[in-house]
Parts: sequence; structure tokens; C-alpha cells
Amino acid sequence: MNESLFTLHQFEGYIATIYLVEYQDKVLLLDGGARRDALRIKDFFTQVLRRPISDLKLSLVSHMHPDHAGGAPLLRRRFSIPIAAHYEIDRWYRGGSGATQHILDTVLGQYSAWRQFGKFEWAWSPRRLQPDFRLYDRDKLPFFPDWLAYAAPGHTLYDMVFYQPQEKLLYVGDLIIKVGEKIVLPFPMLFPELMAESLKRMAGLAVAKLLFAHGGVLEIKDAPAFFNGLMKLVGQSQRRSFRRIEPLCSLAADVRLYKKSRTNLD
Ligand SMILES: [Zn+2]
Repeated sequence: MNESLFTLHQFEGYIATIYLVEYQDKVLLLDGGARRDALRIKDFFTQVLRRPISDLKLSLVSHMHPDHAGGAPLLRRRFSIPIAAHYEIDRWYRGGSGATQHILDTVLGQYSAWRQFGKFEWAWSPRRLQPDFRLYDRDKLPFFPDWLAYAAPGHTLYDMVFYQPQEKLLYVGDLIIKVGEKIVLPFPMLFPELMAESLKRMAGLAVAKLLFAHGGVLEIKDAPAFFNGLMKLVGQSQRRSFRRIEPLCSLAADVRLYKKSRTNLD
């Protein structure tokens, strides 16, 4: 990537991989990571990039789960770094059921990090993000107009992915997950029909490199075939252990409204 405008850096956060896009005069954080990832990001600036954290001009948040939405608010509080996210992201944990879901997501995230990686750390994130920049589908990113935000619902209702057309890079957040060599769709998949539509839209983008929040970087040769190939996973039933905890992930008001609308259609 020598001739490109930027250098892509990555390192492992508490649960997700953290990506920093370094330009000569500014840096972009592709997703905020968990709460204490804010401190890892600060250390990365000091020890690896050898730049002041004030060069970080923008933190993106792909969706509200605590392994993605915990670091950015702390970076904003400590270092005044603005946040950009889906314009309706703060609807996700709204109301009493949203508050309960927020607690459950934190507990489930920490439990799965402990089970999978033997890691435990405090990962509380604010229930409302209050983004400084509210992003709509296909918006150019503030300060980084060479990047585009795409709404990509399915995992939650307000997921976004971030695309850099010149380099054909796509940061997928939790739209798709890489587990070892296997590509899977996320758990929970709360809006299957919308997930299928999101994958279909991604199949229309010229993508050569996928940046996973979970699973690192993957080069792909045929993006339409790759995304279309994932469509068949949408209808497949998930592992029994996942199915058992799905009710614990379905409390958000938007999920209940969606389920109700599907039942009415049947
Ligand atoms: Zn998630």
C-alpha cells in the first residue's frame, strides 16, 4: 500500500481488532472498540505511530454493542475526539427494554470474551452514544471524504460499514465475522431479511480487501461471488447454544417491532 494516501494499522483490542488509518496529517479510527481499548489506542499513538493523540480526527462506531461502542466515548471525554455513527444509533437501546438489553449485551460480551480468550476487563459503555456527526447511508465521512459510510442493518438495525473506493477496502464491523479460516454471519442476526439486503448491496461494491472487526484482514478476488455466497447462510439455523440465548438478545424495541411486523405478514 506504498502508493496509497494512507497506511493501515491494526492491533488486537479486548474483543475486536482495532484499525487506524494513518494519513500524513490526520488519523481515522475505524471503530471504537471496547472501553479500555481507548487506552490501547492512546498507547499505540505514543509508542508506535509516535504522534500526538490530537492527530486522531475522528472515531467511527459501527454499532452499539459494547465491544464497538465503548472506546470512542472515552476517547472523546479524555481527548476531545469527535464520533461519527449512524444517525439513529441512539434509538437502539431506548426505553426500559433497551436498558435491560444494554446490560445483557455487556454481560454476554464479557462472558464470551472470557470463554473464548480467557480475558476479562471492565467493558461498560454508555447507553447513548450522542455522535458528533450523524451519518446517513452513502455519506462521505467528515474530515475523510475519501471514505463512505453505508447503512448495513441485519446484526442490529443501525449497523454501518465503511468503504474506501480507491483502495477497495471495506470495514465490515459485525456484518460478517471471520472465525479461523471460516466466514460466518454474526450472532445475533436480529433482522435476517435486512441482513440479506445488506449483503446484496455489498456485492455491488468493488471490494478487494475486507477488514473484519473479528478476524483480521482478508483479500478477496471476486466480491460479488463472495457476498452472494454468504446469502445462503442467512436462512440457516444457528448453533443450538446460540438459539438458546437468542431471546436474551431480542429485547430491543426495534426487534420486537420487527418480529411483530413479520408475524402480521404471515
Ligand atoms: Zn455486535
